[in-house]
Amino acid sequence: MAEARARAAGVVGLVPTMGFLHEGHLSLMERSATECDQTMATLYVNPLQFDDPADLARYPADHDRDLALAEACGVDLMVVPGAEEMFPNPPLTWVTVEGIGERLEGEYRPGHMTGVATVVTRLLAGLQPHRAYFGRKDAQQLAVITRLVQDLGFPVDVVGCPLVREVDGLALSSRNVLLGECRAEALALSRGLMRAADRFDQGERSATVLEAAVRDAVPDGAMDYARLCEVSTMTRATVAGGETVLVAAARFGPVRIIDNVFLVADHHGASADRGIRLGRPSLIYGSE
Ligand code: AMP
Repeated sequence: MAEARARAAGVVGLVPTMGFLHEGHLSLMERSATECDQTMATLYVNPLQFDDPADLARYPADHDRDLALAEACGVDLMVVPGAEEMFPNPPLTWVTVEGIGERLEGEYRPGHMTGVATVVTRLLAGLQPHRAYFGRKDAQQLAVITRLVQDLGFPVDVVGCPLVREVDGLALSSRNVLLGECRAEALALSRGLMRAADRFDQGERSATVLEAAVRDAVPDGAMDYARLCEVSTMTRATVAGGETVLVAAARFGPVRIIDNVFLVADHHGASADRGIRLGRPSLIYGSE
């Protein structure tokens, strides 16, 4: 990583990923390439953030394809650190963002957010970017990273970028290729969130009502949570508006999906941010 950093000059942007790139990742890379002199992206499937070994074993990968896509999006340096380079010794130092990282995903995937925070800290220390780009798809992760950067004083701007969706609304995720015949069923989650966003646009502000709109769309037993939260703390909000996000997670066959809509209101008015929809099926289906 030190060698890669030494080759980058000017304002340096960083886009950390676990690979098997899709348009969500590419949107972060393009934004960094637009805003920074040089863009570094990392490809590292972080074992510390997998609570389920089976999930890690089946995580999709295609390095050659990733390198070509990243280059076409303006990435100057693709950093693919090995496990040895990331952690020459099994880490004894862990980064836990209390509260923010312990709720929601922290409850359902014990150790997950500490794994994310520890690896992102390692990447920020090793690559020292000026700006680091993360997707709002992972709203809780973004809150955790924003806070760890403040607490540890990393001189980096954390930039949150829009969630990218398939034509039919499914939030892009590398794991979506594993959905198989569960894909149609999995659409229930984004459909529920879109319904809640519509209700918000029509003036509904009650967390209970908005959360129920998501839950009602998802088959019994599939739902892990649907919760309205304050964006920066991920504590439950009872009323939508200000800076709130309706986050949800559910399980469909072998894949656990997380998705959200940002529900924001200020003196200019209220808006539900549903993300961006692609005009055609994602690249991840390209090789099928
Ligand atoms: P991952 O490879 O899944 O760890 O994601 C790497 C980065 O891409 C993270 O900042 C994610 O939030 C972001 N990302 C993943 N999926 C999407 C999406 N559908 N839209 C926008 N950003 C995304």
